[in-house]
Amino acid sequence: MQKVAIIGAGITGLTAAFELRGKNIDVTVFEASNRTGGVIRTVNADGFLVECGPNSILDTHPDLGRLIARLGIEGNKLPANLAAKNRFIVRGGNPVALPTSPPAFFSSNAFSTSAKLRLFREPFITSKSNEQENLADFVIRRLGQEFLDYAINPFVSGVYAGDPAKLSVAHAFPKLYALEQKYGSLIKGAIKGAKERKQRAETAAKDARMFTFDNGLEVLPKRLTEKLGDIVRLNSSVTEIKKAANRKWQVNGAEFTDIILAIPAHKLSDLETPFDLKLMDEIEYPPVASFSLGFGVNQFMHRLNGFGMLIPKIENRFSLGALFPSSIFTGRAPGGMALLTVFVGGSQSPERALMNEEEMLENILADLRDLLGLDGGPDFKLCSVYQKAIPQYVVGYEKYLNRMNEIEAAFPGIHFAGHYRDGISVANSILSGINVAKQIEGG
Ligand SMILES: Cc1cc2nc3c(=O)[nH]c(=O)nc-3n(C[C@H](O)[C@H](O)[C@H](O)COP(=O)(O)OP(=O)(O)OC[C@H]3O[C@@H](n4cnc5c(N)ncnc54)[C@H](O)[C@@H]3O)c2cc1C
Repeated sequence: MQKVAIIGAGITGLTAAFELRGKNIDVTVFEASNRTGGVIRTVNADGFLVECGPNSILDTHPDLGRLIARLGIEGNKLPANLAAKNRFIVRGGNPVALPTSPPAFFSSNAFSTSAKLRLFREPFITSKSNEQENLADFVIRRLGQEFLDYAINPFVSGVYAGDPAKLSVAHAFPKLYALEQKYGSLIKGAIKGAKERKQRAETAAKDARMFTFDNGLEVLPKRLTEKLGDIVRLNSSVTEIKKAANRKWQVNGAEFTDIILAIPAHKLSDLETPFDLKLMDEIEYPPVASFSLGFGVNQFMHRLNGFGMLIPKIENRFSLGALFPSSIFTGRAPGGMALLTVFVGGSQSPERALMNEEEMLENILADLRDLLGLDGGPDFKLCSVYQKAIPQYVVGYEKYLNRMNEIEAAFPGIHFAGHYRDGISVANSILSGINVAKQIEGG
């Protein structure tokens, strides 16, 4: 009989557990901390509903909706306001609205005329990426330097807190890489790919609706935990995985047929195991601070009418960017107040995420004064620092993926899942949990 141990009760581990329990498979989830959800954490304080980690989920795959329906929390799902379609990018010290359609692109002042004209050349560029190309080189080759500086660099800061010169286009942006490989052009691929996605009932990330829940993202892991009941063991760190008789594995004194490793890659090498996981410690997880601040809406010259503001590195500011959560979702701030979440640090300026809170705040407020016309200080603040935030899928990342594949092949019953393997987003982590459960059911 199959008996599965899941190590880590983040969204990956919880989803895998829920799927396996749905098939009546015996599961135990071991979680080191005193709560589930991993980096998903919502705090309700002084009338503000604050996300310390991720802020939203992109509805890119039908399996996400199916999971939410089975959990009975469809009614709690909260889609982003339409205003969240507006995104601002800082250019020349001012937030400029990013175009939301092809005609708007040509009239937008987010890009120069030469950058716009450069786009017409893209379908005729015949060179193709190899697996070792970094994102910066890929974008310069296909779209030009200005696109790198004002579109991709800030976008990569917003998603990976990463550096385009280090990230692998094939691993960090596999869909972009595949468009070029399959269609020879991003523009041609975007048009043809849209038709194919429609047939598969999938949504492109750029068109996917963003959502959270009425009481924040933590509704999802909390509901999963409730459904799983006492199979989730809190304060139960796993330090060792041992081989047992009959092709079984031993974890925390009990025997299992399968083990799912759903903990961050930098924690894998702390485990004592019959297989070597030291390599996984090399995966870079730069520090990121997420600083949430509450102000009166009238303290800003800017209307904060959008998803947020990304700040390209070339603009030489302190912050990576700011989300406007109270504009994206209802119920995030008391009446007349605005909630902003500013991100600091990442691969391109890691030391900033680790500076003391006062100094960090001073620098953030200087950015908000200059860029959004802020007057005065915050009424509310909550700073969350992630010493090791998001894994960087850099050029050469295949060596880590290969290592996981080798271990799984040589040690049947061992499975790797989550943000360090199948994509960094919450949606990717959920799909990773669903897929690993399917492999075990099928095995
Ligand atoms: C600041 C920040 C902002 C983000 N913003 C977004 C966003 O807006 N949208 C989005 O889609 N994604 C976002 N992400 C990414 C996304 O949140 C994560 O990739 C995803 O939630 C990871 O889930 P996970 O279950 O794989 O890992 P984790 O959440 O890291 O969970 C791993 C769990 O394992 C436990 N654990 C560790 N070691 C052990 C051990 N030895 N024994 C037992 N348990 C152990 C940990 O305590 C933890 O609970 C963000 C991430 C960060 C850090």
